Amino acid sequence: MLTLLLAAALAVPAHAPRVSLHDAFNGPQCYRYNQQIVGFGMRYPGSPGHAKTEALIKSVIARDGGILETDDFVAQTPRGPVPVHNIIGKFNVSKDPDQPIFILAGHYDTLFQPKGFVGANDGGSSTAILLSFADALHAAPPTHMQIWLVWTDLEEAVKSFTATDGLYGSKHLAHKLLTEGLVPRIKGFFLLDMIGDKDLDVDKESQSTPWLQDFIAAAARKLHYSQYFFKYSTAITDDQVSFLNVGIPSVDIVDATFGPMTSGDGMGAWHHTLQDTMDKVSEHSLNVVGRTTLLAVEMIDSQSG
Ligand SMILES: [Zn+2]
Repeated sequence: MLTLLLAAALAVPAHAPRVSLHDAFNGPQCYRYNQQIVGFGMRYPGSPGHAKTEALIKSVIARDGGILETDDFVAQTPRGPVPVHNIIGKFNVSKDPDQPIFILAGHYDTLFQPKGFVGANDGGSSTAILLSFADALHAAPPTHMQIWLVWTDLEEAVKSFTATDGLYGSKHLAHKLLTEGLVPRIKGFFLLDMIGDKDLDVDKESQSTPWLQDFIAAAARKLHYSQYFFKYSTAITDDQVSFLNVGIPSVDIVDATFGPMTSGDGMGAWHHTLQDTMDKVSEHSLNVVGRTTLLAVEMIDSQSG
């Protein structure tokens, strides 16, 4: 039997089929990350929970073999100067100086107010899904594109959302990419926000780049997840706007209706309230959005060779 076994071993192709990027997304682990992050408590810049989240993000980037970069600055806000720490993990980086780049981003800060706000969905789900993207990229890197995972900081307004209060981290990073001349290499940008909602309904965000949105719709169709995407068209000003403004094709993957639609801000009764807790988040929603986003990245990657 020895010779037969040896023959069978030799018959295995040198490059055995490996798991695809979207199949490498681990929904249960993503939910555990979300729980862990919420366990850190409030996570506004300067809080202990914020520092713990930063440490977790950096440890996962290191464990998954990403290249860590930080974009640190001090924002001038209505509450005075606030230190802001964008965190970037670069994956699948080749020696090619023109290698195309794709960015997946989400904010990891939470609101300053009200006291006790833990943002399971708003801040927690986006942080967690990017950690799971790091794990998936480690297991199944794409063929062509280098992927940047960007955890943006101080997305939330420190007082109330205006043209100058909010999106601090993303504005700074987008401007930096522009001044460094990197914009032409960036094929696209997907923002993930509030995608853990048990009652998942991803908006067709109307400022987003339509051709890039089509990849999300196509990936959702392929995975039989179309019922969760693009039933409603809404304009949501979020971190994607900062990147659109410097000429990067961008999509906001956001479920902007969180809880009964009875509250004053039009984004659901649990949005920016103490009701934004883990019981409103589901592993299934994280899995649907995670797999769909990564399949869209695979489809874009296959056209980037
Ligand atoms: Zn928010």
